[in-house]
Amino acid sequence: MKYRIAWMKGDGIGPEISDAALEVLNSIQESYPISFDIIFYDLGDASKAKRGSALPDDTIDGIRSSDAAIKGPVGESAFESIVAIRQKLDLYANIRPARSYEGVPNAGKIDAVIVRENTEDLYKGIEFEVQGVATSLRIISERATRRIARVAASYAAKRRKHVTVVHKANVLRISDGLFRRVALEELGQYGLTVDEKYVDAMSMALIRNPSDFDVILTPNVYGDILSDEASQIAGGLGFAASANIGDPNSLFEPVHGSAPDIAGKGIANPYSMIMSISMMLNHLGISRSDSDALRASESISSAVEKSIKGGILTPDAGGRLTTLEVGKELAKRVKEFVQTG
Ligand code: ATP
Repeated sequence: MKYRIAWMKGDGIGPEISDAALEVLNSIQESYPISFDIIFYDLGDASKAKRGSALPDDTIDGIRSSDAAIKGPVGESAFESIVAIRQKLDLYANIRPARSYEGVPNAGKIDAVIVRENTEDLYKGIEFEVQGVATSLRIISERATRRIARVAASYAAKRRKHVTVVHKANVLRISDGLFRRVALEELGQYGLTVDEKYVDAMSMALIRNPSDFDVILTPNVYGDILSDEASQIAGGLGFAASANIGDPNSLFEPVHGSAPDIAGKGIANPYSMIMSISMMLNHLGISRSDSDALRASESISSAVEKSIKGGILTPDAGGRLTTLEVGKELAKRVKEFVQTG
C-alpha cells in the first residue's frame, strides 16, 4: 500500500532524530510492499522565524490530507504548533507507552500506557488577566471524556485488562468530578479491572510500584506530567514515543522537547522517533487493515528491543554511537528481521 506522510522535522534535535528515523522508514520501504510519499513541512520556532508562523496553513493542510503525520519536537512555540494541531484536527487521544527495556538503566520495571485526553482541560488555553489577576478556564466535557475512556478500554482489552483512572475529584469536584463519573461509567461496561487514583497519589505510586499499572487514563494536563515521569522511570525521555489519534487524522511524535542543550551535536537519542514510526505503522495497519504495515511495525519493535539489549545506544543511555549511527543500525536490523523472520 502507498501512504502519504506529512513530516515536520521541528526544532533543536528534531532534524537529527528525523534523519535517523528516515533511515528506518527507507528500510521498511525496501523490505515490505509499502511505499511512502513523504512531504516535509515547516513547524515550530524555526518556521516562526522564517515564515512568521509556527503553524503555517500549508502545514496544517498537509497534515489534514495525509494518511499520517510524523513530527519532531518543537521549542518555545509548542502551544501555537502542536497544541493547535491537536485541537484543530481533533486528535483527541494521546497514547504514551512507558516500557523499560533490558539494556537501559531504569528506575523500576514498567510496562504501562498512558491514555491522555488531548483536546481539553487547561490546554484549551482560555486565559485572561484582569488587574493583576490571571484566570485559566478548565474545560472537561462528557463527550470528550467518554470517547477517551473508550480508547483506554480498547487498549486495556489488548493488554492486561486493567485501567487506572487518574483525577483529583476530591478538590476539583465539578470538572474532575465529571471526568471520574463518566470514565468509570464507560469503563464499567467492558469487563475490565478498573481502579482510580488521585493525581498526587498517582505520581508517588508510579515511582513506588511502577509495575502495578497497565493502562492509565487521564485528563490532558495530568497525562502530560505523568508521562514524563513514567518515561523517566522507564529509562529516559529518549525512549518515549507517542501517538495523537483522531478520526481520520493521526500524528506521531517523541514525548520529549527540542533539547536545545544537545542540539547539533549528533548525540540525541533517536529511539523516541523510531518508535513513533512503529506506532504509526501499527495504527495504519489496524485502521487500514494492512497486514504488511502491522508486520513492518513489529519488525521495528523487534529491532529496537534487540538493538537496545545489544548496546546500540547514544551517550544519554550509556552508549557511544551517534544519532545517525543508531538509525543506520536499526535500519539494518529491520532488514535482517525480514530476512530471518
Ligand atoms: P520542553 O519544555 O519542550 O519539554 P525541555 O528542554 O524542557 O523542553 P526536553 O527537551 O523534553 O525538555 O528534555 C529535557 C532534557 O532531556 C534535555 O535537556 C536533554 O538533555 C534530555 N533529552 C530529551 N530528549 C532527549 C533525546 N532524544 N536524547 C537525549 N537527551 C534527551
